Amino acid sequence: MEQKIIIVTAPSGSGKTTIVRQVLAQLPALQFSVSATTRNPRPGEVDGADYYFLSPELFREKIAQDAFAEYEMVYQDKYYGTLHEKLEETWQAGKTPLVDIDVKGAKTLKTFFGERALSLFIQAPSIEILKERLINRGTESPEMLKERLDKAELETSFKSDFDQVIVNDQLEVAVTETLAVVRQFLND
Ligand code: 5GP
Repeated sequence: MEQKIIIVTAPSGSGKTTIVRQVLAQLPALQFSVSATTRNPRPGEVDGADYYFLSPELFREKIAQDAFAEYEMVYQDKYYGTLHEKLEETWQAGKTPLVDIDVKGAKTLKTFFGERALSLFIQAPSIEILKERLINRGTESPEMLKERLDKAELETSFKSDFDQVIVNDQLEVAVTETLAVVRQFLND
């Protein structure tokens, strides 16, 4: 069986995580790819399920060992990366990994995997709505909020680089659309 990969990217606050959760729940052929990061866990996050929370030293060691399919400093001094080993484990289990990563990392993986990858860009309806969602989430300091919004604006300008843009205006519609394109890609 050909080893495929689903790449989902979006500015943070676009509702990507909610869409990803629903798609994973409905497509057992997919497996969420757990990334490594140097940021601190948020309340409720579990090491090994949400992320592998690594020290900066360990993360650097893994970079030196070429352990990452891609990695990025997504925010100031905060590294995130996709481990080759984790993708392999998913393929070995007969499943297709779904990676939820930033725009630059997504472009890197799409370039690397080419036709074997389906890259999806989830777009929030507007920067104002994005701001509202991030404020409601309440996990960011004002500085972090600004950094995330500035980044979101820049990232949205790259949406045409992806195989498919999903506008998350109404959650159910976005989920249905995502399920359809993923199913189609898995069957091709
Ligand atoms: P958060 O800190 O909110 O969990 O994630 C911040 C951003 O990092 C999100 O856009 C998320 O998709 C991205 N991210 C998570 N894992 C990875 C990864 O392995 N590689 C890259 N490049 N970005 C990632």
